[in-house]
Amino acid sequence: MPQSRNAYGRKRVLVTGGAGFLGSHLIDRLLARGDEVLCVDNLFTGDKRNLDHLAGEPRFEFMRHDVCFPLYVEVDEIWNLACPASPVHYQHDPVQTTKTSVHGAINMLGLAKRLNCRIFQASTSEVYGDPAVHPQTEGYWGNVNPIGIRSCYDEGKRCAETLFFDYHRQHGLDIKVARIFNTYGPRMHPSDGRVVSNFIIQALRGEDITIYGEGEQTRSFCYVDDLVSGFLALMDSEPGFPGPVNLGTPREFTIRQLAEMVIKQTGSKSKLVFQPLPQDDPLQRKPDISLAREKLGWEPQVRLEDGLAKTINYFRGLA
Ligand code: NAD
Ligand code: UDP
Ligand code: UDP
Repeated sequence: MPQSRNAYGRKRVLVTGGAGFLGSHLIDRLLARGDEVLCVDNLFTGDKRNLDHLAGEPRFEFMRHDVCFPLYVEVDEIWNLACPASPVHYQHDPVQTTKTSVHGAINMLGLAKRLNCRIFQASTSEVYGDPAVHPQTEGYWGNVNPIGIRSCYDEGKRCAETLFFDYHRQHGLDIKVARIFNTYGPRMHPSDGRVVSNFIIQALRGEDITIYGEGEQTRSFCYVDDLVSGFLALMDSEPGFPGPVNLGTPREFTIRQLAEMVIKQTGSKSKLVFQPLPQDDPLQRKPDISLAREKLGWEPQVRLEDGLAKTINYFRGLA
């Protein structure tokens, strides 16, 4: 594969969705290892403040652009993260969500094909839907409602996976597909309605903690630094390994347990209140990460208690 690199011998890397939560952490790590980074983002859910600390960094460049439209740039590697990720955000304009996943994937794959470069796709555990198999392995095909309120995201991401594997088979493209499970940490959007940010903000303000349903549904929460280490390990893995590979934490908590941990760690006097469970909300979710352990030698290191402490500190700083 041609790794053209620039005149300084640096790898030129494109990160779509780089102004968002995961993308901005990924960019920090890519810059730290010496790459040149082009961030492409339409700032739909992203925030330039996530990149403020890079002002004056000559190896970093920001381009405002919507991946639904073609993009002609010269890079050596592509990371495709552009897509609203939280239910509140992706349901705000569901048609645009599907377009971003599908047209965005086609354009980034077309770009990768022209450049003959490696391309990473931020897929999701949502491809498993409300899973009938627990924990979820990559071999499980999922249980997704095609016409529900989460479908724009779930089916959009499933179609993007299809496109990635068809470009791989049909055009020999070197692809890396990660199925990301719930991730948390600093720079989560404060109003995107995700459970970790909601609970921390509510606890810090002394407001009621909103548990949807009985709080018996489960999720497994991965700290962002661990996840990004998994991204890098996957992108640097052997060419014959396209994935998909689960990246997440196999430690499962009920939403009620999470609420209790947040209350304890913030020392808050907030009370738990129970609200209706949203439609199609998965009852349980936990990755089987055997494949990531075997192929990437990767597993998360940060305990939920420790990651929550760092995330709580971040949100205290915003208040
Ligand atoms: P985020 O909303 O913080 O970041 C997404 C970024 O994409 C934002 O900066 C947004 O402005 C940008 N974007 C959206 N539509 C775009 C478009 N059409 N063109 C250009 N940019 C666009 O979300 P995140 O949590 O950082 O998620 C990043 C990726 O990881 C997403 O693809 C998401 O589906 C995936 N993912 C995240 C999680 C998680 O727990 N955070 C879990 C599974 C998958
Ligand atoms: N594309 C792009 N940048 C490139 C090359 C292609 O954005 O450098 C887009 C272009 O919009 C194209 C899509 O990627 O429609 C898919 O490209 P591909 O070569 O697979 O298909 P085609 O050009 O035949 O539609
Ligand atoms: N949730 C909750 N209270 C909130 C926000 C979310 O109980 O204030 C629940 C939500 O119903 C889901 C879980 O927490 O069961 C995780 O929700 P999130 O939106 O963070 O992610 P996803 O549903 O995509 O896993």
